[in-house]
Amino acid sequence: MKRRDFLQLTALGTLGLTACPLSMEHGVWNPCVHPPNYGRLGRDLIAAAFDGLDHSKIWDVHAHLVGVGDADTGAWTNPDMASAAHPLQMLQRRFYMNAACVEGEVPLDFAYLRRLNELHGELPHGAKLMLLAFDVWHDPDGTRRQEMTTFYLPNDYARRVAWSWPERYEWICSIHPYRTDCVEELDLCVERGARAVKWLAPAMGIDPASPDCDRFYERCAHHGIPILSHAGAERAVESHLEDVGNPLRLRRALEHGVRVIVAHCASLGDGVDLDVGPDGPSVSNFDLFARLMDEPRWEGQLVGEISALTQNNRAPALRAVIERTDWHGRLLNGSDYPLPGVFPIFSPRNFVSDGLLTSREAAGLGAIRESNPLLFDFVLKRHLRVGDSRFADSVFETRDFFAG
Ligand SMILES: [Zn+2]
Repeated sequence: MKRRDFLQLTALGTLGLTACPLSMEHGVWNPCVHPPNYGRLGRDLIAAAFDGLDHSKIWDVHAHLVGVGDADTGAWTNPDMASAAHPLQMLQRRFYMNAACVEGEVPLDFAYLRRLNELHGELPHGAKLMLLAFDVWHDPDGTRRQEMTTFYLPNDYARRVAWSWPERYEWICSIHPYRTDCVEELDLCVERGARAVKWLAPAMGIDPASPDCDRFYERCAHHGIPILSHAGAERAVESHLEDVGNPLRLRRALEHGVRVIVAHCASLGDGVDLDVGPDGPSVSNFDLFARLMDEPRWEGQLVGEISALTQNNRAPALRAVIERTDWHGRLLNGSDYPLPGVFPIFSPRNFVSDGLLTSREAAGLGAIRESNPLLFDFVLKRHLRVGDSRFADSVFETRDFFAG
């Protein structure tokens, strides 16, 4: 098998390619323009997007570090997932590789970092990306099950990258709560500067409502470190568990005093209304997230994260979140990079039809996107509006949530 075939990018999170209406307005593939060429209109939009923000507070809370382990990084991807037996996943993988501009590169792990550094170099001085580690599946008895895992990105690799470029990156560890050493690993990560803990519950085999998480929750609360947990349906990664992405399952973490960041504001799929009971009706995960957000007792503990909300299949939640200005003080921006480089799942033109962007803005965003998907994501979100509402500046000035 070729090295690049190992790149199991389907683990990157939330592409949802199978359920996402596709748009071809800027072609299918990221042209990876370098050096960047934003055009005059693009440059104007970029300047406007950063205007009025404290750049040192701009931390992108959801940026994936990817590797295949071909450069002493310890990263790993599951070769099963890259086989011809899984054609859809092979196609997804190609999209992700193209999004990150690393197709055919060896060593791929270095190429990914090089590109990330280039993209970051286009951000204003002071802005940072928070790089995510990604733990493997564990059974409830603590058994490590690498074969159940799509993708592994070690804590130590994320830490090393962040420590190598402290002016560019922060890091977020990933620790499975069923690990027998979960508390010790958390202590170590906190000591080494991890800013949060990343979970992708359906892909890692975590039930956030399980008592097996309690000692981990207690330790997170002790350190004051937040958990960034994917919630909502998971369409990009093979999921072996039902309903663990249900946002109501995160109440257990909140009840233990943990600060919780709900990734993507749980904006895909349906979950069981557990407040009615285990056999309760099916309700949209976003509505369940909204219920939690509106419970006053979690006000200082629960926040939402808006990465991926601009994808074609999440438009209703995006609109709702922009309109809920009372939530904006509790929303954090992330890009879910490299997903903004997957061209067919975003459509600036649809935002024009829906009145969220002007056609001039959409045209400028087209040029930005070909050179820098990170900037595309940021500038797009800064310009979106629903009526008189747009995302408040504080949504993008996220640093103090982690380092306040
Ligand atoms: Zn992600």
